[in-house]
This record gives sequence, structure tokens and C-alpha cells, in this order.
Amino acid sequence: MSSPSTAGVVVVGGGQAGFSVVSTLRASGYDGPVTVFAAEPHLPYQRPPLSKKAHTDPVRVELVPESFYRERNIDVRLGDDVIAVDTAARTVTTASGARVPYEHLVLATGAHNRPLPVPGAELDGVHALRSLDDALAIGGALATAREVVVIGGGFIGLELAQVARARGGRVTVVELAGRLLSRAVSSQVEEHLRERHERVGVRILTGTAVRAIEGTERVRRVVTDRGVLPADLVVYGIGAAPRDELARDAGLAVDDGVIVDEQLRSITDPRVFAVGDCARHPNPYADGLVRLESVPNATDQGTLVGRRIAGSPGVPYASLPWFWSDQGDIKLQIAGLRVSSDDVYLATGGSPERLAAYAFRDDRLVAVETLNWPAEHLAARRLLEQDAPVCAADLTGSTLGALTRARRAAGVRG
Ligand code: ADP
Repeated sequence: MSSPSTAGVVVVGGGQAGFSVVSTLRASGYDGPVTVFAAEPHLPYQRPPLSKKAHTDPVRVELVPESFYRERNIDVRLGDDVIAVDTAARTVTTASGARVPYEHLVLATGAHNRPLPVPGAELDGVHALRSLDDALAIGGALATAREVVVIGGGFIGLELAQVARARGGRVTVVELAGRLLSRAVSSQVEEHLRERHERVGVRILTGTAVRAIEGTERVRRVVTDRGVLPADLVVYGIGAAPRDELARDAGLAVDDGVIVDEQLRSITDPRVFAVGDCARHPNPYADGLVRLESVPNATDQGTLVGRRIAGSPGVPYASLPWFWSDQGDIKLQIAGLRVSSDDVYLATGGSPERLAAYAFRDDRLVAVETLNWPAEHLAARRLLEQDAPVCAADLTGSTLGALTRARRAAGVRG
């Protein structure tokens, strides 16, 4: 397709955040040219099902069909990476040599997996998971794999461990840190989560370093500092880093993500926005700047920027951070942002299958982690979003669901 003659909006990145920008632009009445560069050969798709189900059907994860873009005159360019941004000339240049002008540029470039820093990581049968093509490869390999080693006990690793277990493989999770999910959940919730994984036969080795992956062409074993594990499939998820090289090369401020202001504009150039995994932004629920890897964050940031460019008044980004992870029949949900010094209290609401951990800072509720308790998660989101103060004494012998009902009955908002 030819370059638009007038400059409109150029979005770099066809993930959830980029899609949110372009769909919001049109839904908000923006009628200038909209071009989205999606590096992968697929139309924008949902990533969460990839690790939760290792999907093998690309169409089932597409966000919307091709007709959506056509009907809205959104120019989707697949497989042609933007390789340079000229903020003075306001153009982007792509790998195929196209130069496209912009009035507003939105960086929605996401994150890439940290590579596995051990010998043998390049052997056949060793996979990382980020793209749909990765998921297709892992899904195919799981059909025959008997001995699966998962490296990294974070979100991706634990979700894939359950997928592999459900397919009948023997599964071992090797985690370098002293416990699982240390980035994401309190130690109290981690204990329960670990027990539930072990209950269905997932073997978990924490505090264990992988030294090498061995095999001739195909993987055969994983050598750790605590022994050798047979393996015919290795998947790893050891964290991600933002794709911010384009911004850095263009001279924009970058520090583990593109640094943006409260309206998600680059602090260097207000014609450039950054949204989703690649954006380091001020967030009222965090101390200082934060970069979040989550679908709700990508969607909400894309919506805010789409509306702003379409002419809405500028408002600060203020969405409550929230996350979820489906690990077999375990549903982990997190509302708010916790830090390790918070006081954490647990409740089960009378059922051994569910759990809530409430994190307090200066006796104020700041985050809630739940296992298999969606109603309590939703109550937590509502209370945290409304900024309705909850202190530890409010929760003695109670739950947020019960507290909300009691407050409503007493006529108190929240
Ligand atoms: P992801 O989105 O990839 O799951 P997380 O940050 O949720 O990212 O989890 C990554 C996990 O990988 C963390 O628990 C971290 O301690 C672990 N990890 C990091 N490096 C290694 C490594 N070399 N070997 C095993 N585990 C690792």
C-alpha cells in the first residue's frame, strides 16, 4: 500500500496496546490516516491464551477479523518492521524502505523475552514463549513430549507447566530464586500456589540454577547445580525486557522503557506517545514511575491515547493495575501493586480451595491477591479504584465482599 499523502497517526506495534489505540481512534471519530506496523505475520491477537492453553489455532486468538480494519480504513502493515524514527522530520522508516509521515506517533512495541544465558539454549526442543508461532511450536512439541523441564517459575513458566501436565508429561519447574513468582505475589500466596502445583504432580525445584542444556541436535537433559534432569522438551520464561531501542535511537528518554508523562507522552517529544509493556509511566498506585506487563494496562493506555489524539481533553492515566494468571484450575488474580514491606493478612472465606491475601501499607489496603476467588478480586478492584479507605481492622474476620455489602447497607459509598 502507498504511504498516505497527509500525516496521520502511526502506531508501531500490533499487540493488544497498538490494537487498542487504532480501534479507539476510529471509535472516537478520528478520520485521518491510521497506520499500524505489526512486525509479526499475523493480525493482532490475544497473547494470554498462548501460555494458558498453548493454542494451536491462530484464528481463535485473533482480536478481530481482517474486515474490521478494512471497514475502518486502518492500514495494517504486517511483517514490515519500523527500523527508525526521525522526530524532527516526523517520519518513520521501515525495513522495506518505506518512509511514512506522522502527526502523532504511538510506540506500542511491547517487550521481548530475556534470553536463556546457558550453553545449549539453541538446541532443538528448547523454546521460549512470546509469539503465536512460539505457542504453535510448543503446542506441537507437547503432543509427544514425556519429560518437560520448565525454566522459570513466573507467570509464563507456571502456566505452561500446567498445560504440559494436563497433556500427560512429567513436568519439573526449575526456578533460580528461593521461591516462585517472587516478582508478582506475596510469600503467603506463593506457599499455597506451590502446594497446588505439587498436588497435581508438578515437581518444583526452587533455588536451583541451570548450568547447561545438553543433547546432540535435540535436547536430552538439563544440567542444574542440584542434579541432571532428563528432558525432551524445555520451555523457559525468565522475564522480559521492554522493546525501547527504537525510542532510544531516536533520542527519546528511555530507562527500562520509554519514559512518558501522566498523559503517556514521551517526556522528550509530546508528539510521541508510548503505551503498554514498553511504557514507563507515572501511576497513582505506584511510588514513582512504573512499567507494567499486563493486558488491562495495555488496553487502558491505548484507549487513553486513542481518545486524546481524537480530540478528547488530556487526562492523566490513572487505571488500577490488575493482573491474572490461569495455572491449570488455579485462577490467580491480583489487584493493586504490593511491595515486599507491606503487611499481609490471609483469609479463606471458609473454603479450603480459595484464598485472599490483603496487603496493607501504613494500615491502608494497597493490593489484594486471590486464588480461585473472582468475587473477592472484583470487590478489591472496586474498593481500590474508588479510593475507599480500608484498614486492617475493617477486615478482621471479614472479606471485602462482606465489607462492601455492609457499607452499602449503611449507605456508605464503596
Ligand atoms: P515471565 O513473564 O517470563 O513469566 P516473570 O518475571 O513472571 O516473567 O518470571 C520469571 C521467573 O524466572 C522469575 O521467577 C525469576 O526468578 C526466574 N528466573 C530468572 N532467571 C532465571 C534463570 N536463569 N533460571 C531459572 N529461573 C530464572
